[in-house]
Amino acid sequence: MNNIFRDTILEVDLKTLGNNMRMIDEMVGPEVMVMAVIKANGYGLGAVEIADTLMENGAKYLAVATLIEALELRKKSQDYPLFILGHTPDKYLEEVVKGNITQTIFSLNQAKLMNKIAKDHGVKAKVHIKLDTGFHRLGFPLTKESKTDIIEIYNLENLEVEGIFSHFALTSEADNWDQFNSFQDFVEKLEDEECWFKYIHFADSIASVDESEFRLNMVRVGALMYGIRGFHVGFLGVDPAMRLKSKISQIHHIEPGEGVGYDYTFRAERPSVIATVPIGYADGLPRNLGNNGYFSVDGKKAPIIGIMCMDQCVIDVTDIPNTHEGQEVIIYGKEEENAMTIDIASKLAKTNKNEILARITSRVTRVYK
Ligand SMILES: *Cc1c(COP(=O)(O)O)cnc(C)c1O
Repeated sequence: MNNIFRDTILEVDLKTLGNNMRMIDEMVGPEVMVMAVIKANGYGLGAVEIADTLMENGAKYLAVATLIEALELRKKSQDYPLFILGHTPDKYLEEVVKGNITQTIFSLNQAKLMNKIAKDHGVKAKVHIKLDTGFHRLGFPLTKESKTDIIEIYNLENLEVEGIFSHFALTSEADNWDQFNSFQDFVEKLEDEECWFKYIHFADSIASVDESEFRLNMVRVGALMYGIRGFHVGFLGVDPAMRLKSKISQIHHIEPGEGVGYDYTFRAERPSVIATVPIGYADGLPRNLGNNGYFSVDGKKAPIIGIMCMDQCVIDVTDIPNTHEGQEVIIYGKEEENAMTIDIASKLAKTNKNEILARITSRVTRVYK
């Protein structure tokens, strides 16, 4: 990474990422496998670049949402155990089989098709059955018909039904338990029919930390690995594995009454020192952080003033002495350094933490240390 040509970077700390991964692995214990969720380019951190660190620190599976994401990882290594959490259209299932990728299955038809493709290739394709326990996104409903279908899938010669899983809506503790209990009942019914599953999984980051029973024998964690503490009742001391940084491109001194940015939505009330930072909404910074969020300069808060532009925004550094062009600005960092954390940014932007991370666009160079 010699030439990055830009001051705006997402710094990814592989050591912290590895520490977080080990912490999660230790939390769940040796009986529970960790599926590391690196969909959406590893929540923006770079799936291909972080995969080895995760595998070396305890991940047993790498999960993505789409086939394209899986194939990018497969290109990097033939050895990664890869899992697709989402739907793959029929006409691309052959790529899944050829890539030795484990596919989520929620229909008999797709299972039969995949079985046929696997047979043609002389292999056994791995699948996990997804059950819909209330979320109503993907999954077999918990019906008699589904049970019959799943038993049929289980007995297809060229499929290995390696796992079964569902996903929490995280509505409330009571709703979680309802989902979980109906899942357990259904899996037991399948076991009564001699359908056994190597991996049974339900919990995402939040559920894994909050309720140990939800871990079953595998957890699917994304946010937690990256150091996002989204849990409610439990606790794990993971640290942010990334930091979004830039450098001041220009400093202006303005007089009371002068405006800043489109529509002059900010007007100086005192002689002000303001600094332009080369990051904007096309880098994935929420536009509604204009006149709302803040960056950290020299360990102090510098409010974002005016409307955020596509490629730049302006901060008020009047109260921060000796600011200068080329000075480092932290956009997402730690609370101790007076930067917006992912959590704070998500609240100010009225969205969730994962979106704040995942929306950082490819224009921002990722730098690994
Ligand atoms: C994204 C995703 C996860 C991981 O969610 P986190 O909250 O980031 O841990 C787990 N399971 C499924 C099905 C997902 O889509």
